[in-house]
Amino acid sequence: MSDRSEQVYHPGEIVPESGIYECDCAQHYEYITDVRGHRFPPVHKECSGSGWKLKDAAHPSP
Ligand SMILES: [Zn+2]
Repeated sequence: MSDRSEQVYHPGEIVPESGIYECDCAQHYEYITDVRGHRFPPVHKECSGSGWKLKDAAHPSP
């Protein structure tokens, strides 16, 4: 059980974990980052959501 997937990150916030994010509107635009510490981009132009949610965390190589 984890509620981390419910966390919404807003544009300009620091990316806490590399992986695949999607915006929280009905269109689910994806944003893929492999660099932790970058900032989230603005959501797409017609987005009715407020930010990005982690969809799939990247699996770090050993
Ligand atoms: Zn959207």
